[in-house]
Amino acid sequence: AKAAGRRTYRFFEPEMDAKVRERRQLETDLRYAIAHGGLEVYYQPCLSLKDDRITGCEALVRWRHPERGTVSPAEFIPIAEDTGLINEIGEWVLATACRDAANWPDDIRLAVNISPVQFKSGTLALKIVAALAASNFPASRLELEITEAVLIRDDDTALAILHQLRAIGVRIALDDFGTGYSSLSYLHRFPFDKIKIDRCFVNDIAGPDGSASIVQAVVNLASARRMTTTAEGVETEEQQRLLRALGCSEMQGYLFSAAKPADKVLELFATHRSQ
Ligand code: C2E
Ligand code: CA
Ligand code: CA
Ligand code: CA
Repeated sequence: AKAAGRRTYRFFEPEMDAKVRERRQLETDLRYAIAHGGLEVYYQPCLSLKDDRITGCEALVRWRHPERGTVSPAEFIPIAEDTGLINEIGEWVLATACRDAANWPDDIRLAVNISPVQFKSGTLALKIVAALAASNFPASRLELEITEAVLIRDDDTALAILHQLRAIGVRIALDDFGTGYSSLSYLHRFPFDKIKIDRCFVNDIAGPDGSASIVQAVVNLASARRMTTTAEGVETEEQQRLLRALGCSEMQGYLFSAAKPADKVLELFATHRSQ
């Protein structure tokens, strides 16, 4: 135990140092990427489980780093949130996605992820109105994906913002459902348009003590409150079949398609339609 303790002590500082330095470097690189076109928006289609039509696409940001290759948003979004850069990134994603989606068939919706930091910035509604006006994309086809994290802090403010967004005419989806804490109470207090069932439930839906009963409960709850459900991360035919049987409305996942660049997703709309 002593040796381990000594080892921890000796390597602790330089290691922390390296972490802090790497993070700082990523932050610098991220600032550069924002200013010099290093970010890109990809789109992942969402499919109706009822009739296999593409109902919408989710905008997912990508960062092509000159040395590291593609950096995952799971890695750089938290840094962007800590530094406030997420406000700029989020605004850019929103504007870019609305412009791209203005070329889509008019029965296909656009979903955009909104960070809790953007949500409580106080200017989100204005930025959305501006992005819609600049792109001529209709509010009714824009869906904002928010997580439970935005709801935890200040109840009344969060509800006021949600109602403000609803008044613009956009749809609101609750993302990553089931991974937070306050799920049920918030479903009761605000009428979301959609619940996105987190990938972790879809993942073991087929297992022996699988999550099928949880998914069933969410689907029932949602439909009782006139909300639709989208299953995330669907990778197998079996998951798709079970989700359909459980009454889930839509699915998203590698089984149908990963996120693609704007031109590729346009091609997909055309080929999928003519099938
Ligand atoms: P998310 O919103 O839950 O997005 C779904 C993630 O699951 C995406 O990862 C997507 O590529 C991935 N995915 C989709 N289908 C499958 C599948 O079948 N199997 C597996 N294993 N994964 C699948 P991605 O693009 O790496 O994004 C990670 C997270 O980063 C997102 O999770 C979201 O929280 C955040 N993010 C991405 N783009 C943005 C953005 O523009 N703004 C904000 N605020 N957050 C973003
Ligand atoms: Ca999402
Ligand atoms: Ca999600
Ligand atoms: Ca997720």
